[in-house]
Amino acid sequence: MRLLIVEDEKRLALALAKGLTAEGYAVDVVHDGLEGLHRASGAPYDLIVLDVMLPGMNGYRVCSALRAAGDDVPILMLTAKDGEYDEAEGLDTGADDYLTKPFSYVVLVARIRALLRRRGADRRSPVLDLGGLRVDTAARRVHRGEEEIVLTAKEFAVLEQLALRAGEVVSKAEILEHVWDFAYAGDPNIVEVYVSTLRRKLGTSLIRTVRGAGYRLEAR
Ligand code: CA
Repeated sequence: MRLLIVEDEKRLALALAKGLTAEGYAVDVVHDGLEGLHRASGAPYDLIVLDVMLPGMNGYRVCSALRAAGDDVPILMLTAKDGEYDEAEGLDTGADDYLTKPFSYVVLVARIRALLRRRGADRRSPVLDLGGLRVDTAARRVHRGEEEIVLTAKEFAVLEQLALRAGEVVSKAEILEHVWDFAYAGDPNIVEVYVSTLRRKLGTSLIRTVRGAGYRLEAR
């Protein structure tokens, strides 16, 4: 899952990015509203954390511009307590949820997960059953029968991209876009490394290579 943080308080933005990266999300950070809008229009984000008071363009305007362009990416708005803007205004412009500063990091992560889950819910339940393998996208754990298969955050994120579209071919580029952030300038073959680790941990027949196209998770 790839997130965009648009927040001009740099220390806060970087602390959030660091925490969310450790949770297994790919996180991009910008500190300016206009740049946020450009970034959001140019890449397939799964969720945007959007501050209201921003240089360039305020968060409400960024949000309405995205909605006007038909972009329905989940948006979690960060508002200042006793500020001139209020929650109702945030929701009016098309934000999915809001959080008043100062907020607890734990609450932020819970809200992000809930929004991502709500978005995924119209496709699949948070627990995916894949031929004896139970992938819990909310708890981010994998079980085979009673046994837990321990995956790193990144390994889980790669598996999740394949599992959400089980039976379909998912390209390496799509996996990269959702699991790594834009600053990742390394070898796209990193995806192969993760897939081979997943095969080692989960069994070799689960993820098929579709030559020249990508990978397909076999959901039997
Ligand atoms: Ca601000």
